[in-house]
Amino acid sequence: MRFDFVTLFPEMFSAVTGAGITGRALSRGLVEVGLYNPRDYTADRYQTVDDRPYGGGPGMVMLFEPLRDAIRDARGSGDAAGRVIYLSPQGRKLDQAGLEALSRHSHLILVCGRYEGIDERLIQAEVDEEWSIGDYVLSGGELAAMVMMDGITRLLPDALGHEDSAQQDSFSDGLLDFPQFTRPEMIEGRQVPPVLLSGDHKAIERWRLKQALGRTWLRRPDLLETFELDEEQQTLLAE
Ligand code: SAM
Repeated sequence: MRFDFVTLFPEMFSAVTGAGITGRALSRGLVEVGLYNPRDYTADRYQTVDDRPYGGGPGMVMLFEPLRDAIRDARGSGDAAGRVIYLSPQGRKLDQAGLEALSRHSHLILVCGRYEGIDERLIQAEVDEEWSIGDYVLSGGELAAMVMMDGITRLLPDALGHEDSAQQDSFSDGLLDFPQFTRPEMIEGRQVPPVLLSGDHKAIERWRLKQALGRTWLRRPDLLETFELDEEQQTLLAE
């Protein structure tokens, strides 16, 4: 899968290209990354990428042309036609289902706004989808684009060390994840739940499902409105 970032701050992306699951996916060739700086698509000596908003008001707005040319260059970089995403607080709110849908594309072009945002006509002309990472305002789209890339990359086959780990994460099956424990068995008077040491795989699975259901009920009851136990889970709880 290919990710192209259109950004005034390409150096920020070393956070995902140089470390962790995303860095490893890049070095193993599971993902490709391209960086396009609108400043490289300007014709004036100051490399101007913004201007004052029509109608007045504070702040600056990103210019149409440098962004358009950067996006068009990025479109040509992949084998498949790229899907152009604008990261924006006004977009559809990102969730696990959204990441799964986005992971089915083979080429995403992620446009990172700055200042007061980008000229609306660029959204009309070049953008396919607008996505927000939450109901708050960041100073730029870079962190949002990296959040999106990280969330998608961990869904790609072979990106994680253990092939089941993405499926058991919170939200993937509609529930929050069960609690995790590692060595030692006892620390500061706190004991690992004995069932996890029992070696009884069925009992462990049942305990984990109950924990996931209980946590979701306590912390995110809204998720249970659409959740349904599958047949395997029903049998497990009935046994
Ligand atoms: N004036 C814009 C508004 O209120 O909709 C906000 C502009 S914001 C300061 C600058 C840029 O940060 C945006 O163009 C967008 O790319 C990015 N951004 C800010 N908050 C975001 C969020 N919650 N999700 C995704 N991108 C965001």
